[in-house]
Amino acid sequence: MELQGNEYHIQGVNVKGLVEEFGAPLYVYDFEKIEAQYNELKDAFKHSNMKIMYACKALSNLSVLKFFKKIGSGVDTVSIQEVRSALHVGFEPNEIMYTPNCVSFVEMQEAIELGVNINVDNLPMLEHIGNHYGDKVPVCIRLNPHIFAGGNPKISVGHIDSKFGISIYQMRHLHRILISTGIKVTGLHMHTGSDILDVDVFMRGAEILFEKALEYFKDLEYIDFGSGFKVPYKPTDRKTDIVSLGEKLGNRFNEFCKEYGRDLTMMFEPGKYLVSESGYFLAKTNVIKQTTATVFAGIDSGMNHLIRPMFYDAYHHIFNISNTEGAMRYYTVVGYICETDTFGWDRKINEISEGDILAFKNAGAYSFMMSSNYNSRFRPAEVAIYQGKAHLIRKRETIEDIFVNQVEMAF
Ligand SMILES: *Cc1c(COP(=O)(O)O)cnc(C)c1O
Repeated sequence: MELQGNEYHIQGVNVKGLVEEFGAPLYVYDFEKIEAQYNELKDAFKHSNMKIMYACKALSNLSVLKFFKKIGSGVDTVSIQEVRSALHVGFEPNEIMYTPNCVSFVEMQEAIELGVNINVDNLPMLEHIGNHYGDKVPVCIRLNPHIFAGGNPKISVGHIDSKFGISIYQMRHLHRILISTGIKVTGLHMHTGSDILDVDVFMRGAEILFEKALEYFKDLEYIDFGSGFKVPYKPTDRKTDIVSLGEKLGNRFNEFCKEYGRDLTMMFEPGKYLVSESGYFLAKTNVIKQTTATVFAGIDSGMNHLIRPMFYDAYHHIFNISNTEGAMRYYTVVGYICETDTFGWDRKINEISEGDILAFKNAGAYSFMMSSNYNSRFRPAEVAIYQGKAHLIRKRETIEDIFVNQVEMAF
């Protein structure tokens, strides 16, 4: 979103105009930004055989999935419903990676029958698959290299207490299951967490996968390095240095392939990196409420629409698109949900009046997707900006949507 004169625009489309046309609260996604992120990552690895698998749990609107298909991406899924969504928009089964954790064997079988790539996260599941299918269904193995990334156990999934993946300390047991069942392993995978700034974390994880690949897995076709790329949220935040990662890991991967004796594909499965910055959340101000200690800006939305600030203490930058030249004042921006529902404390924002539209940054990933009908509120509409035009990609809900699956008892 950029200022032209004193009005914000996305690809030349006036943002306030979007609220007039589609109402608020509203999610808006800049598809040009999604493509730019995709191309940045692709370019950084242009000297390696690298494939991007978009982790669609970040934003799985069907039009977004279709756009990823159009720009050449594959897709990483974590539920059978995501698998079906990807197939529905035309991804081939071999362009889909299914990376669930703690799902039933029944769900895994459903995915196997749909023909998608299977990523196995625990040894009992590996036994089930092996007993049932032998060498007929090649699998990818999700290893947990136990790298503690970022220092925050909430967003790190690779540490010793994590539920994710098969521990590298279980290689002997894993190997026994492979020998006993004859399962063919064609992929190795790791995903060590979110918001990893340090390129060396990826390098350490990669070395562990390379070592295990040489020792235990002779039939590999690909190695999936997961995700966790950090994007800026605060104006002063840094992001993962993609260019440096491309140089270091790209070169090291090519070297490894020589040692392994085969040209493998490398994969990444970013969610946040690809879509976070493309998204904006727009909401109208209902009230400016001054209390003894604070000036609250109360908006026509709540944590039912954007839960990340309350759920993860996430910072989403907030600005006033209706008064871009007003004096800077301090506001605590809150929602209408009947419990503590704060989007940001003491934010410096151009003076806000009733009716002003506030915009939230980084609303592409894990934003609409985590919305709910709490307080029986409607979920927002979603709009894509593509080739300089706005496209409604999800209608705003109505009271019928609130009633739809409820079965009313007769009294
Ligand atoms: C969530 C998830 C991702 C994407 O993580 P981001 O931090 O959004 O890039 C990738 N792979 C797996 C297996 C995931 O569960």
